Amino acid sequence: MADAHWGDVYKELGARPVINAIGSVTMLGGSAPLPEVKAAMERADGAYIPLMELEEKAGEAIARMVNVPAAYVTSGAGSALTLATAAFMAGDDDAKIQQLPNTAGMKNEVLIQKRQRYWYDRCLELGGARLVEFGSAERTTRDDLERAIGPKTAAVHYYAVEQSPDPHALSLQDTIEIAHARGVPVMVDSAGQVYPLDIFGKYVRMGADFQCIAAKYLGAPQSTGLALGTKDTIRKLGLQSFVSYEGRRIRGIGRPQKVDRQEMVGAVAAVKRWMTMDHEERLAKAERQSRTVMAPLRGIRGIKTQLLDNILGHQPYGVRLDFDSKVCGLTGKEVVDRLKAGDPPIWTRVREGEDYILIHVFGLYEGEDKVVGERIAALFGR
Ligand SMILES: *Cc1c(COP(=O)(O)O)cnc(C)c1O
Repeated sequence: MADAHWGDVYKELGARPVINAIGSVTMLGGSAPLPEVKAAMERADGAYIPLMELEEKAGEAIARMVNVPAAYVTSGAGSALTLATAAFMAGDDDAKIQQLPNTAGMKNEVLIQKRQRYWYDRCLELGGARLVEFGSAERTTRDDLERAIGPKTAAVHYYAVEQSPDPHALSLQDTIEIAHARGVPVMVDSAGQVYPLDIFGKYVRMGADFQCIAAKYLGAPQSTGLALGTKDTIRKLGLQSFVSYEGRRIRGIGRPQKVDRQEMVGAVAAVKRWMTMDHEERLAKAERQSRTVMAPLRGIRGIKTQLLDNILGHQPYGVRLDFDSKVCGLTGKEVVDRLKAGDPPIWTRVREGEDYILIHVFGLYEGEDKVVGERIAALFGR
């Protein structure tokens, strides 16, 4: 909080800015667009551009950098998921494109492992598709998928989380093999799978028809996302987008999911930076910030601090805090509530089903790591 004007633009509106110790979450603003990204966005302001052309060229640039056949900038990864399901149902049939979300006469089922139901699967339904579960809560077998594929199957969805692979889920490799043998496309939510760089775009290179990336994890405007995929899939996905709605006068379901020209070039700049930056330096900084958060907590009885060096995906380092409330007097949930009630509010969280706090440094501005550590310590009289 080196800056006396911290958060002024929000305060002037009567809104209360917060310190983000949760990480890259949509609710708090995703990520801070980086200087290179802001510079590109600024330059976009100087001229208008037909957005159908910009989408095409931005997509080509991103596809080249990420090493996939095709890419498209969308209104978040969520929109990429919605546009992809619509594309798998309607293809390039203009009548069907304009009929959605009414799916009469179309393949409209998206298969999803029961074990892989998750918060964002709602995005798969918005174009009119119906989610059909396969496998059980315990495990998914090859047979489960074989049996689930039917005449109404539009696609098979897969949720990729390399940080914590699920040993009882059907693998993506098996999913692709079985689905493709039956002529069914495979789509992957890999929103946060961006590091190490060889996993960025990996699922399409493995044979999936589509995967999404949330650009909020890359320091792009958080309102953008990336659809990566085969040329055919991305072409059909583009037919659903708001630029096709206006440019082709064919009314796809993507019209409310707009992306501005500044955001499109911002997303390209963010990908370029991500693919060329010094990631060792990025990780070293995150480790330093994490240690700064931990330092004031050392020696407080009943608090266990642990540096998490899970550097897969988008979260670099983090700090796990376990509270023995009988010894230190507060539960994890109480610590979260008190930090949020302080000035300025610090947002952290205890995830559902857990009782510890994971501090992520991704969203901490200069100096805020120290503030977070000291504010937690102060709750325990330090
Ligand atoms: C953040 C996220 C999304 C949504 O991405 P947006 O760009 O915010 O729309 C989807 N899936 C997963 C796994 C995510 O982490």
